[in-house]
Amino acid sequence: MNAPLPCHRCGTKLLLSTDRPHPRFVNAIYRRNLCPQCDVSDPAAAGILAFFAVHHHITNGNIKEFETLLHEWVDRTAEAPQVSPEAFAADVEAFKRGDLD
Ligand SMILES: [Zn+2]
Repeated sequence: MNAPLPCHRCGTKLLLSTDRPHPRFVNAIYRRNLCPQCDVSDPAAAGILAFFAVHHHITNGNIKEFETLLHEWVDRTAEAPQVSPEAFAADVEAFKRGDLD
C-alpha cells in the first residue's frame, strides 16, 4: 500500500483515493479523493469519514463495514465532470494556437 497522498485542495493527508473509468474518455480514469478536511460537509462521505474517525485502520474485524461504507461513498459521489463537445473542441483549438497553458 502506498503512503497517503496530500489533498490537492488543502494539503491534508488523504484517507483514500478511488479510480473509476471515465464516463466519456476510453482508457481514462476519474480519480476521487477522500479528504478528512475538505469532505467533512459532504453527506456522501459522512459514513466513510465516521468509519476512519472510529477505527483508524482496516482490519479483518471491520472490513465488511468498510466495504459497505466505501461502496456507499463511491455510489453517492458525483460522476466525473462532463465537458461538452463544443468546449472540448475550443480547448483543442486553443492548444493548437498555443493559447492554452
Ligand atoms: Zn483537503
